[in-house]
Amino acid sequence: MSQRLFPSPDFPAVPVVGEDALFPVHRIFCVGRNYADHAKEMGSEVDREAPFYFLKGAYALVESGATAPYPPGTENLHHEIEFVVAIGKPLFRASRDAAMAAVLGYATGLDMTRRDLQNKAKDQGRPWDFGKNFETGAVLSPITRAAEFGEIGGQRIWLEVDGTVRQQSTLSEMVWSVPDILTDLSRYYHLQPGDVIYTGTPAGVGAVAPGNVLRGGVDGLAGIELTIGAAE
Ligand code: MN
Repeated sequence: MSQRLFPSPDFPAVPVVGEDALFPVHRIFCVGRNYADHAKEMGSEVDREAPFYFLKGAYALVESGATAPYPPGTENLHHEIEFVVAIGKPLFRASRDAAMAAVLGYATGLDMTRRDLQNKAKDQGRPWDFGKNFETGAVLSPITRAAEFGEIGGQRIWLEVDGTVRQQSTLSEMVWSVPDILTDLSRYYHLQPGDVIYTGTPAGVGAVAPGNVLRGGVDGLAGIELTIGAAE
């Protein structure tokens, strides 16, 4: 068998709460505009026809507790706190019951965004990749098993920057529910164990700067912490 020219790294992995095993992260799907108040602050409305998505590569993953450098190419790095679904079984053209049975667990995530690049892409009708899919763009907490978390409902989701609350809502404010999202997404992709879905952010997104410490969480889940390092 031919050797590879250079090492191909394993997928990054995050802890599972209370277990030794790690959850390897494969693809990172992100839902756009899933809270009406955030869609409004972005100058848009929620699309009631169907959810829409963008993706980040697994190399964008940052574990909670890290210091991530202020990324290159932007002067407007934003935080977006999100509820994250971790897939544990293959899922394709799934029913709502099958979709929920394939959920391994949930986590807290930060969909970091180079907002200036995203807005420029939006204005020009171009892809969002440069605004969204960059190294250190996806922060993820340890994963809590779905059975431990229980039903998705009125849990609070929140983010603080240097101790000041910037984002605060509840999971019941999501326009598209987790079964809505999984049944829809599985019509377009063969979802696999290791795929994660960031389910959108509530209002209050805003800029961060080197030295800021971000802390966020969802009731019942492990929280996240991220320190913004010096610009590269
Ligand atoms: Mn987002």
